[in-house]
Amino acid sequence: MSSVLVLGGAGYIGSHTVYELIDAGEKVVIVDNLSTGFWEAVHPGAVFYEGDIRDRELLDLVFDKEDIDGVIHFAASSQVGESMKDPLKYYSNNLCGTEVLLESMVAHGIDKIVFSSTAATYGEPESIPILESDRTLPTNCYGETKLSMEKMFHWTSVAHNLRYVSLRYFNACGARPDGKIGEAHDPETHLIPLILQVPNNQRDYISIFGNDYETKDGTCIRDYIHVNDLAQAHILALNYLRDGGESNIFNLGNGVGFSVKEVVETARKVTGHPIPAKEEARRAGDPSTLIASSEKAKEVLGWNPEFADLDTIIQTAWNWHQSHPHGYQNK
Ligand code: UDP
Repeated sequence: MSSVLVLGGAGYIGSHTVYELIDAGEKVVIVDNLSTGFWEAVHPGAVFYEGDIRDRELLDLVFDKEDIDGVIHFAASSQVGESMKDPLKYYSNNLCGTEVLLESMVAHGIDKIVFSSTAATYGEPESIPILESDRTLPTNCYGETKLSMEKMFHWTSVAHNLRYVSLRYFNACGARPDGKIGEAHDPETHLIPLILQVPNNQRDYISIFGNDYETKDGTCIRDYIHVNDLAQAHILALNYLRDGGESNIFNLGNGVGFSVKEVVETARKVTGHPIPAKEEARRAGDPSTLIASSEKAKEVLGWNPEFADLDTIIQTAWNWHQSHPHGYQNK
């Protein structure tokens, strides 16, 4: 039986996808440089290679040695703020990394890849909910490199025998319900884990960035989607390519928007903690509202998010953060 190669399988969304792949009976090989991923997040049943996707020799060795049927690619830098301060790191890791990967895939005749894209490819949306056919005009370097990756896949697929699925995630959140793995970033910048640091006694209050947006309560609106639902979409996308599906792009979100204040309020309800909040200035580069239309993924891939309810999503995150207050212990 051949294996699925998961690049970045020790990271947040990658590790959850590996667990779901193995639950689905797949064999998995992981390549991860552990720069932001964690050894403890690596599923014990996967074959693991520590290394960087810019290392052509390593990729060639993996494709030579392992029987790889398709690739799922998460190995990229993903912090918006960092991308504005250190754009070349993003060009190197995200674009050069993908270029090396594609060269090696083409040389080895590997013809299927599913990869992480982002709502940040759209920039400030033209209309809500956002459709895959809408204008893409990123407002940060992270989104720009992801959009360039999509274009690199497109032109490579035109020239070579290769098909891809690009999955544009909205706000990934939550943790595996059995509590084995969850979200851990250093530094943490995402709203839900930061909120949960308050009831976990690691932060006195949550900052609310901006209260003067043109939204129902003045705070930003986002579409929060559970990490296991994202993981399931990757498996469906891989199977779609295995069944001969053409290259394609899909949004992945719940199609429901929650304001920052609503997320804080839900976390208060779930944790039973008052979670003090302070309203502060806007964070640079934040669009006011991002909500996905995921109708295409539902129709074409048969995707059906299981965790549509924000209380349940935050409950899974809270279970993880309570049992792992300092994230993973070992890098
Ligand atoms: N946010 C906030 N306080 C924080 C972190 C985030 O108010 O401490 C807001 C942020 O401005 C955005 C939303 O929460 O409107 C989600 O931010 P996050 O960084 O989680 O995801 P993003 O939408 O930037 O990908």
